[in-house]
Amino acid sequence: MTVPLILQKEKGRYVLAPFGKFGVEAFFTAKPLDLAFESRGRRLALRQAGIDAGKLVCPCQIHGTRVRIAGKRDRGAGVSGRKTALQETDALVTSEKEVALSVLTADCLPVFLVDPEKRVIAIAHAGWRGLQGRILSRVLGVMAASYGSCPGDIVAGFGPAIRSCCYEVGEEFLSFFPGAARRQDRGIFMDLALGARMELEAEGVPAQRILDSGICTCCRADEFHSYRQSGPAAGRNISVLRLLV
Ligand SMILES: [Zn+2]
Repeated sequence: MTVPLILQKEKGRYVLAPFGKFGVEAFFTAKPLDLAFESRGRRLALRQAGIDAGKLVCPCQIHGTRVRIAGKRDRGAGVSGRKTALQETDALVTSEKEVALSVLTADCLPVFLVDPEKRVIAIAHAGWRGLQGRILSRVLGVMAASYGSCPGDIVAGFGPAIRSCCYEVGEEFLSFFPGAARRQDRGIFMDLALGARMELEAEGVPAQRILDSGICTCCRADEFHSYRQSGPAAGRNISVLRLLV
């Protein structure tokens, strides 16, 4: 079962509409904004996306599984570039208001997680390596251990990512991701969103609370940055999640 994630487009960003009722701000950006650390126009792009650099926390992602709790002291990390970002981190958790968690993606899946009961949020960069390392289980583990979050209360949102229509992978994926990687006539294709969904559901997140934008960055490379379409020079979409109350 896939529950569609309703989006509202406004000024260079897509807002996750159903998340508004939880008192959080949740959105991801689109082209022409490029939030890659190397992007010359990064400062301007942050402003154009309406992102307050003084509240933003950027991790330096390595396709790993390290989860960090971010607090007010981390605000501004990574705003000026990769060096100041939270190093070797692929997921962030916070319960503090006005700490804007973020991840950068260009085909990998950005996962937004909100616990409306305990007032805790998390964001994760979930590519195949992260999913293989069960990064989402690790995030839920941190939310449970540090804040008492129950998986049954969590609401998840999937942003734009390369989808199974475009993500052709090697034979080894069939054993890495049984069910999420499938052999088709044209080859073997990986469904990152399904892999993420399977992991969340296995941890106890209810299927009806997992909302998916369904956007394929590769099919929609006109609108989103896609590594598979543009290669190493690809820009980055930023996903941002912040507790407002
Ligand atoms: Zn596609």
